[in-house]
Amino acid sequence: MMDGSRFRVGLGQDIHRLTEGRRFLLAGVEIPAARGESGHSDGDVLAHAVTDALLGAAGLGDIGEFFPPSDPHYKDADSMGLLRAAFAKVKAAGWSLVNLDCVVVCEMPKVLSYRAALRDSLAAALEVPPERVFVKGKTNEGLGHLGRGEAVEAFAVCLLEKSGGVS
Ligand code: MG
Repeated sequence: MMDGSRFRVGLGQDIHRLTEGRRFLLAGVEIPAARGESGHSDGDVLAHAVTDALLGAAGLGDIGEFFPPSDPHYKDADSMGLLRAAFAKVKAAGWSLVNLDCVVVCEMPKVLSYRAALRDSLAAALEVPPERVFVKGKTNEGLGHLGRGEAVEAFAVCLLEKSGGVS
C-alpha cells in the first residue's frame, strides 16, 4: 500500500433485533432458535461484523456503503455472499487475512456447540485454515436488551497482511 503498512487491524460490530418467524444465522450457519435476526438482508449479524472488520482494516469503507440497506437488491441477501464480495475487494487492494477473532453476545441459543461450524464457514469464505478464525459465545448476564433476548450482537477483529510481503 502507498503508506507502506505491512499489517492493518480492523474492528467490526453489528446488532440485530430478534423476532419470531426469522432464521437465526451466524456466518451462514442456521442455528435452531425460537427467534431469528430481523433485517433487510438475511440478518446474519456475525457475517456483517466480520465484513465491517475487513473493510475497515483495508480502509475501503463499511458494509452500509457497499451494500446499502435502502437498495432492494439486498433484500434477504445472503450475507456470506456479501462477505465474500467484500473480501474480494480487500484482496484486490493487496491484503490477505492473518487471523480473525469474533464474539457473539446473546442469551439464547448457545453458540458454543456451533463453534466449529462457524469457524469452518468463515475460514472457507476468507480462504484461510480454520485455525486462523475463532468465535466465542457470551451471554449478557441477563442485562439489558441483549439479556432480555431482544437482540444479538457480534464483534469481530481482524489482522490483514500485505500480500506478497514488503520490499
Ligand atoms: Mg447488520
